[in-house]
Amino acid sequence: MASTETLAGPDRYAVFGNPISHSRSPAIHRMFASQTGQAISYEKRLAPLDGFAAAVDAYRLEGGRGCNVTVPFKLDAARYATALSQRARAAGAVNTLRFDADGGCYGDNTDGAGLVADLTQRLGLDLAGARVALLGAGGAARGVVLPLLDAGVESLLIVNRTAARALELASLAGDARVVGAGLDALGEATASVVINATSAGLDGSALALPASLWDRVELAYDMVYGRKPTAFMCEATQRACPRVADGLGMLVEQAAESFLLWRGVRPQTAPVYQALRVAIDAGH
Ligand code: NAP
Repeated sequence: MASTETLAGPDRYAVFGNPISHSRSPAIHRMFASQTGQAISYEKRLAPLDGFAAAVDAYRLEGGRGCNVTVPFKLDAARYATALSQRARAAGAVNTLRFDADGGCYGDNTDGAGLVADLTQRLGLDLAGARVALLGAGGAARGVVLPLLDAGVESLLIVNRTAARALELASLAGDARVVGAGLDALGEATASVVINATSAGLDGSALALPASLWDRVELAYDMVYGRKPTAFMCEATQRACPRVADGLGMLVEQAAESFLLWRGVRPQTAPVYQALRVAIDAGH
């Protein structure tokens, strides 16, 4: 396949975060580039906690064409953009910026599309009619509410340790299918899909989930991924949940949506998912 590289060199992209050393985005985008014949470079950029906008300004002056944005800058990125996609506006958070030739900066949020693609395409789940319980009301949860509703879920129960944040997110959605509540509401839930969008477990803490939650659950999905199953995934398995998945597929799919926005080409995600899974299992 013909390369798109010009005399000026490959188009430059990056991911901004703090911390950022753990990011797998460069590996993913390099695989996408090689697969599609797009000559791009992609690097990690550590931005100071109080200096996201200045770091992105500097990167644009160096010739950067766009970037991904991860924790803790997704809200800063939404403020930085001069135009937002509908899904980014609904989320109030941006994970993808595209720098346009006219000086504008377009902000998108591909996390929710990534989740929906992983659930429906790789895992073969029919979201139409699904009764979803979403655990968490932080940045990750905000990004997936509208795409889950657009995918036709029957109901969406958002529960959070801080109940007020779940209630606020549900009210922002403005859709009769969405209810927000505290974690205790899970005792009455009749979910067919449970999605963990909390960072509980990363610090060794575990969510206290009622046994009755698992009665009708067909799929338990944790947005976190790693070499070992998370505490949430282990609990789902112990409760005989038929299907359990981590968030590696979501990571690859959200990256593919970003790549499409920047390059106008949709890469194949299955081989990239497989390569990453092998690398993670091997401890890389
Ligand atoms: P965030 O904005 O910091 O939100 C964290 C959420 O977790 C909040 O709802 C918080 O509840 C809850 N939480 C934290 N510790 C808890 C505990 N001990 N018990 C109960 N709830 C707890 O983080 P985020 O950006 O939403 O990210 C959440 C997770 O999703 C992260 O692990 C991130 O890596 C993952 N993620 C994965 C992908 C992917 O592509 N796979 C994409 C995005 C995010 P309170 O509101 O009560 O504090």
